[in-house]
Amino acid sequence: MKNKKIQTVLERVYADNVPEQSDVEFLLGVESDTGMQILFDFADNVRRKFCGDGILLRGIVEFGSFCRNTCLYCGLNKNNKKLQRYRLTKEELIGAAKQIVSAGIKTVVLQSGEDDGLDVVWFGEIIKKIKQDFGMSVTLSVGERSFEDYKIWKEAGADRYLLKIETANKVLYQSLHPEMSFENRIECSGNLKSLGYQNGSGCLVGIKGQTIQTLAEDILFFKKEDFDMIGIGVFIPHEHTVLGKEPLGNIKLALKVLAITRIVTKDTHLPATTAIGSIGGNDERVKALKAGANVIMPNFTPEKYRKLYDIYPDKRCVRELSCGYLKTLEMMATETNRWIDFSRGDSLKLKTEIVDF
Ligand code: SAH
Repeated sequence: MKNKKIQTVLERVYADNVPEQSDVEFLLGVESDTGMQILFDFADNVRRKFCGDGILLRGIVEFGSFCRNTCLYCGLNKNNKKLQRYRLTKEELIGAAKQIVSAGIKTVVLQSGEDDGLDVVWFGEIIKKIKQDFGMSVTLSVGERSFEDYKIWKEAGADRYLLKIETANKVLYQSLHPEMSFENRIECSGNLKSLGYQNGSGCLVGIKGQTIQTLAEDILFFKKEDFDMIGIGVFIPHEHTVLGKEPLGNIKLALKVLAITRIVTKDTHLPATTAIGSIGGNDERVKALKAGANVIMPNFTPEKYRKLYDIYPDKRCVRELSCGYLKTLEMMATETNRWIDFSRGDSLKLKTEIVDF
């Protein structure tokens, strides 16, 4: 009886242009193993239909750990005086991009804390150089900046931008990000879209103060904003943060959020995030790939800096060296009966196709 209801609600949220929040909340509340399996299988079918069986790759370079913010959950928060901060040099950054392209991967994600010391012109030159020399797709993830900065980087050749909303509930957002503004984050995301970036968002599952209602709001926000990519992480407590003593986020809940996001947003790129891969002994990214995810982001941060990009403890990429990543990926592809897709993996929502060069 219950399983029949799950199936009915799944079909309804899949068909609805504006899904009912109560339906999304109902699905988030599914707890039985068979019920969750129905949800994950439905998401897996939607993923196959809209994205195919390829697992897309993005090589990530965490190029700096300076941050002006005080996010209650993040180890990079500026109040963490224990963290040794770093910034890659231009040569190191371009070297990391070169490694990615040599591995056959055609997207680099350049991520850092929100760093006032990140010079707009310096970064623009790096973007230009990477585009010129390697012809790869460039995704930026450096937080909130002015419209002008975003424009300069777009003109330098950046293709995509990842700026997670973390939570779409304004009250919760303000409590987790004391010195930031929800409105500004929304405005930045709108600016990125209007400048023609392929636009990414995402949320953090299991954070203090979150409820099934706020998670449903996140999913409906993703649908409304029609993002090109959405990263769903799971909260991992970091001892040098305000939330350091809070419990680890629930992996099953994170997988449910991922699966419902797939069903509702259909053709969005959804990574099996490193956070999902970093909890527990097993690599839960395989479960994410079976619950709607279609992207993996291998880490290409130079090894000496890896443990300094300390957003949460025991990140999978710190345990695993970059030379070993391909083997891990092949295992994940075999386990999920899929294949590794080395194409650029542009947004599936683009009207015109972007040609590799
Ligand atoms: N500063 C950049 C992104 C860098 S942090 C920006 O503002 O967009 C990258 C991501 O790590 C964040 O978006 C957040 O979702 C995640 N993160 C930070 N702390 C975390 C924690 N304790 N557990 C899980 N994920 C975390």
